[in-house]
Amino acid sequence: MRTAKRYTTQTIKKRVDDDKGRHHTRRALPEPTICEVCGDIYSKRRWTRMNAERRAMRIDQFMITSKVVCPACERQRSGVHSGELHLEGRFFDLHQKEIRRLLENEAQRAAIDNPMARIMKWEVNPPGQLVVTTTTEHLAQRLGHALSKAFHGRTRYGFSHRNKFARVWWSRN
Ligand SMILES: [Zn+2]
Repeated sequence: MRTAKRYTTQTIKKRVDDDKGRHHTRRALPEPTICEVCGDIYSKRRWTRMNAERRAMRIDQFMITSKVVCPACERQRSGVHSGELHLEGRFFDLHQKEIRRLLENEAQRAAIDNPMARIMKWEVNPPGQLVVTTTTEHLAQRLGHALSKAFHGRTRYGFSHRNKFARVWWSRN
């Protein structure tokens, strides 16, 4: 499988650090903090979409003295994803546009709950397979559920690294 190469030592270490376990080393961030890449804001110990947070808390640029790269942008930079969704089949070939739109909408809804849950890449793998990578394992699963709810077909779920990585296959012929 083409994704096997992503299981490097570095990748695994990074995931261990993400764990809440004994390897947890992440320091608390000063608040409010802004992500210098996407502009999301960290406040009250959670990340929020910049616009929503500003409206709710009236945070303005002057209050924000701390800049970081948020976990989602960090994953985009490093290319290390936590979820993968594979799509294929004749139905998929014929309805790619609708299917993509559904996935985009679902990802937008997921971002309301967790702005760090994002689609990273859309990779078209010949012959006729699309691989969507995500910053969180939960988002890949959520996209899989949304597909099967909307279009039926067949969905399979796989997990590894203490459930910190999810791979979802969806197909319909
Ligand atoms: Zn960011």
